[in-house]
Amino acid sequence: MNKVAVLYICTGKYDVFWKDFYISYEKYFLPDCEKHYYVFTDAAEIYMEKENLRIHKFYQESLGWPDNTLMRFHMFLRQKAELEKYDYIFFMNANCQALDTITEEEFLPKKKDIIVVQHPGYYNKTNKQFAYDRNPKSTAYIPKGQGKYYVCGGVNGGRAQAFIQLMEELKHNIDVDKKNGELALWHDESHINHYVWTHDNYEVLPPSYCWPEDWNLPMPGKILIREKSKWIFVDMVKSQSLSGKIKAVIKKIIRR
Ligand code: UDP
Repeated sequence: MNKVAVLYICTGKYDVFWKDFYISYEKYFLPDCEKHYYVFTDAAEIYMEKENLRIHKFYQESLGWPDNTLMRFHMFLRQKAELEKYDYIFFMNANCQALDTITEEEFLPKKKDIIVVQHPGYYNKTNKQFAYDRNPKSTAYIPKGQGKYYVCGGVNGGRAQAFIQLMEELKHNIDVDKKNGELALWHDESHINHYVWTHDNYEVLPPSYCWPEDWNLPMPGKILIREKSKWIFVDMVKSQSLSGKIKAVIKKIIRR
């Protein structure tokens, strides 16, 4: 039986998504594998953490926006020694929810090491329209006219050793950017797209595995990306400064 580590961050308000994520993944995600959840959170308690020994919770303070998502590889690699014991590792955004059975046959990489998922907003566009980082000073830079896929940051993974290598490479790139005062356009998503552009060890899955709620996509949904704004105050979470947070609150009050 394959052993799978599922990497999951829920700092700040994002713990609201954990219960439905967990219940749906237990039921539908790789049902024939032994799944372990690596949860990085500042929540005092999360659903089933006491009952299920396959939930491994690590205290992670909220780093603010965008470090809560950008610094994911730094968080995960602190558990590298544990993660090396698995056959496969997959990252899932907090607001993912499995909708239907996802088998090893359809989801695990076959001939390659890594799986990435085409972004639902770009699967039918050309690379000129992709939301790649166009800043040559960023390590996530991709020049115009290059690149075959635009993939989402919210669902990816693969064979454990290969995914650990990917995380180490992207952690390094993020550290270089930080030293140079650069921030990739779409944070971790820009970095993973740069990885895809510079490697060929991956297989590409359709947007069924990154299927936003309320979008009218022509393919069946397997992993729903739940609409965050129905659950959390997204503008507030993503404001980088205190004044930005205050403005977000005022905007919300005016909108009512
Ligand atoms: N995240 C978190 N706390 C935050 C912000 C982000 O735990 O305050 C984590 C969470 O796992 C989330 C992921 O980072 O799913 C990506 O952030 P988000 O979904 O808001 O980014 P987007 O998908 O909008 O680019």
